[in-house]
Amino acid sequence: MSYNALRQVSLETSKENLVGFSVSGLATYVQVPELDLCFDMGECPLSALPLDHVFLSHAHGDHARCLMRHHSLRRMTGIETEAVYYLPAELVESARRLADAEADFERVEPSCRSTPSFVGLEPSETPVELAYRRDLRVSAFRVHHRRLPALGYTIYDYKRKLKEEFANLPGRELADLRLNKGVEITREVCEPRISFCGDTTVKGLINNPAIWNSRVVIAECTFLAPGEESMARKKGHTHIADLVALLRELGSDLKSETIVLSHFSMKHTPAQILRFAAEQVPEELRDRIKLLI
Ligand SMILES: [Zn+2]
Ligand SMILES: [Zn+2]
Repeated sequence: MSYNALRQVSLETSKENLVGFSVSGLATYVQVPELDLCFDMGECPLSALPLDHVFLSHAHGDHARCLMRHHSLRRMTGIETEAVYYLPAELVESARRLADAEADFERVEPSCRSTPSFVGLEPSETPVELAYRRDLRVSAFRVHHRRLPALGYTIYDYKRKLKEEFANLPGRELADLRLNKGVEITREVCEPRISFCGDTTVKGLINNPAIWNSRVVIAECTFLAPGEESMARKKGHTHIADLVALLRELGSDLKSETIVLSHFSMKHTPAQILRFAAEQVPEELRDRIKLLI
């Protein structure tokens, strides 16, 4: 069997196109060009270079290996803006040391060195602004992956809406309130758009029920074969049977219209993955579940 992490799969949702690759141990990256962002950077095809925001779930090589490459290829190809790399706060110091070590390794002259712009995030329900997109927000949530610092991320559509109490006022009066009387006539609205869960046991998903309010959820589903459920939990990953059980339990609390399964074990061929999914995804979830293969 041969997987090629540079060969990207494209998957359309109702509002955006997801482009990426995700096979456990090889590489995971999911680009969302419309939102100018990429989740994880286990490989860095040229299509990733224009993306200004990168969200790193954890430090395993299959997710993090090309973080510095993304930064250096952007410089090499003349992209002048600094990409921003969001990552678990505990990883910021070691990421800086890694960038230094790479520069040492390549004998980069001190005057030519540039450290990527790292932004450490803590799990929080309060969304924060993205560096280059004022119409988006992000919040991080803690997932469970072999005791590593590991985060999932939710991206929100952000806008300001007129407060209900002012809805019937004419524009002239609204302008007067806002400009002359200093009244705040709008409120913030954050709509959860995409959640990316990174590597996690199903417990990490159970503990974060808010992710199922996102229109799209990208979840890992490393283990597919019946009988491997306890191995999945032991290795810090999710088994399709546990994920399906969780989704069924959620019932009407499952608001997501698309659930993307990813990070399949490399021991399975794409044909086997399709077969396992067909056997284990129940009828009522078939419309919503898509596979990143
Ligand atoms: Zn992984
Ligand atoms: Zn991992």
